[in-house]
Amino acid sequence: MTTSSTAAQATARVSARVSAVTPSATLAIDAKAKQLRAAGADVVGFGAGEPDFPTPPEIVEAAVAACRDPRNHHYTPTAGLPELREAIAAKTARDSGYTAAASQVLVTNGGKHAVYTTFATLLDPGDEVLVPAPYWTTYPEPIRLAGGVPVVVETSESAGFKATVDQLEAAATSRTKVLLFVSPSNPTGAVYPRQQIEAIGRLAAERGWWVVADEIYEHLVYGGHEHHSMPVVVPEIADRCVVLNGVAKTYAMTGWRVGWMIGPADVVAAAANLQSHLTSNVNNVAQRAALAAVSGDLSAVARMRAAFDHRRRTMHRMLNEIEGVSCFEPEGAFYCFPSFRRVLGRDLRGRRPATTLELAAQVLEEASVAFVPGEAFGAPGYARFSYALSEDDLVRGISRIGDLFADLKD
Ligand code: PMP
Repeated sequence: MTTSSTAAQATARVSARVSAVTPSATLAIDAKAKQLRAAGADVVGFGAGEPDFPTPPEIVEAAVAACRDPRNHHYTPTAGLPELREAIAAKTARDSGYTAAASQVLVTNGGKHAVYTTFATLLDPGDEVLVPAPYWTTYPEPIRLAGGVPVVVETSESAGFKATVDQLEAAATSRTKVLLFVSPSNPTGAVYPRQQIEAIGRLAAERGWWVVADEIYEHLVYGGHEHHSMPVVVPEIADRCVVLNGVAKTYAMTGWRVGWMIGPADVVAAAANLQSHLTSNVNNVAQRAALAAVSGDLSAVARMRAAFDHRRRTMHRMLNEIEGVSCFEPEGAFYCFPSFRRVLGRDLRGRRPATTLELAAQVLEEASVAFVPGEAFGAPGYARFSYALSEDDLVRGISRIGDLFADLKD
């Protein structure tokens, strides 16, 4: 190394660790669509991963009351309001059957923060995490920031985008510490059946792996598919399992930023210690809103689920009707994950998009439709379309792609 490059390194403005973080492609597409819209374009955006419904009024009212209560104007315990931790434990037992003490719950600034905190707490440099792909675009980053190594396990569309025991075994090494398990899945909408969860959970138990189970879409399952919580199906993993969840998707509360992790008491205490230096307590008003949400019934999410289910079927049908597109039927969450592999390389109005990244850019330009290319999820050739938007917009947006692709030539 030359003296000048050593000097340059010593004065680097941004650390190598943070420079290596890939920007969130989902937020980038959404931002681009919003920017075009602000400039007057009639863009239909399929990028956002959030319900289009407002937060239910009783939850908003609880927050309004909380604003007026001086108890909420000051610092509260880092790990969360005691009554919220209790209510999360009770809600978890009610909804998935997983019983945990309030001391095993850490309230975080959204589910994303829980993902970060969990990996920061579990991983040492070189520890490997099995990450089934297609994966949510955020996961690899907190794993790498913690010094961990994401080991991508490719799943196939023909296997319903679900990892098999054989695939996981083949990807494991002596450095494997954690298996990341996400069902229902963002971005594919896959929901693991109970039997497969049991087989995978048993494998994790045998091998001594930790399981990080992201259950944020637990209530958004359709057509007879059911959500099962891995530590309920395989109780012997509970001592090495962290369950991630939050209010964002179930209660249309993405902007409130309340999530949580539930894990063994020692891990949660360590994570709370980390959080005490990072963020202190989560915003008290948002915690009071979350308390109202998790203590209430599930009628609002039942209504949202019915609307999503209708849109899911419309989008799935319309995508499959488009020349060159085929789409797996989503079983949960609110995304379709179609394949564009039969479109790539063909002539589309004088261009030949070779990747879904290029295709997404052309579709945004020529059809004013935004979607997230599969490259963001470790699945080139595919793309993620959120159906958390009005049915009218959905139909308009997918029709535009159909019209554009009618011009496809070989
Ligand atoms: N997990 C998954 C699988 C998600 O899709 C999301 C949101 N896109 C989150 C966690 C985090 O949600 P939030 O930070 O809004 O609570």
